[in-house]
Amino acid sequence: MTFQCQRCGAKALFRRLYSGEILCERHFQQSLEERVKTTIRRYKLFNRTDKIAIALSGGKDSTTLLHILSKLEAKFPQVSLSAITIDEGISGYRKEALKIASKVCSELRVPHIIVSFEELYGATLDQIVGKARSLGSRLEPCSYCGVLRRKALNIGARRLGVLKLATAHNLDDEVQTLLINVFHGDIFRLARSGPISPNSLGRFPIRVKPFYEIPEPEITLYAYTLGLKFQSKPCPYARLSLRTEVRSIVNRLEFSHPGMKFTILKTFEKIRSWSNMAVKDLELRECESCGEPSIGRLCKACEMLLRLGIS
Ligand code: SF4
Ligand SMILES: [Zn+2]
Ligand SMILES: [Zn+2]
Repeated sequence: MTFQCQRCGAKALFRRLYSGEILCERHFQQSLEERVKTTIRRYKLFNRTDKIAIALSGGKDSTTLLHILSKLEAKFPQVSLSAITIDEGISGYRKEALKIASKVCSELRVPHIIVSFEELYGATLDQIVGKARSLGSRLEPCSYCGVLRRKALNIGARRLGVLKLATAHNLDDEVQTLLINVFHGDIFRLARSGPISPNSLGRFPIRVKPFYEIPEPEITLYAYTLGLKFQSKPCPYARLSLRTEVRSIVNRLEFSHPGMKFTILKTFEKIRSWSNMAVKDLELRECESCGEPSIGRLCKACEMLLRLGIS
């Protein structure tokens, strides 16, 4: 049985189970771009004179975000777009992504910089993970990677002189992160999650998530329909993460209960506002060692590296 697009009657490509929409390729692409615009408007992610940097890994999500935002940027001449790629130093993995990221930026004429862990911390992620294992650390490689990359992105944004950092976190990432924060009992992160970072002290980039309400499979489909090139090889450390387990549980739930991911997201939004998890009470200060945002005396990155004897 062939389905027809509800907007134009052409052969359908996609059926959005949680909303009932049936769309052809062109209207699917259009609807995804509309949803991104709606997210930007709803959460006031950008203004018309923003200098924006995209955290570009060279993977599917951030490459797609770059394409969509550069399309939008063309309509706002006072907005400027640039990209930052972090080279964590993961052998056999990151090089390919760096090439893809550089190529797509030069095709779209987007200024691009690369910031490496080795340059900033004096060690690659591989070396940091090796050191952590030799010291018997139970932290997953992704925990080191996430914390150190966050700091590296702040530094990259400062080098580019931007105060808005757009990341390609999508609905799936967001839901997984919320649940992981619950499993870790991390109230601070739970309070600070959402489509726009609540506090930047005026000196650190404000993080925004234009894909906050976009399910990952839709980004994948959009990227394929446009024929975008991106890195598809998985990170060798990915299999070790708690996120992988959470992803598979949430996907199973979504399959049997379409719309479940949105329900989880919206429920956490309500809990956050009802319980008035006062973000203002969780204000950041500057790390005493490096000056980056921190809740304690030292930021997480400095704490981690100090514990490993790396800095
Ligand atoms: S999977 Fe983990 S280690 Fe690999 S790039 Fe992502 S966060 Fe870093
Ligand atoms: Zn159509
Ligand atoms: Zn620090």
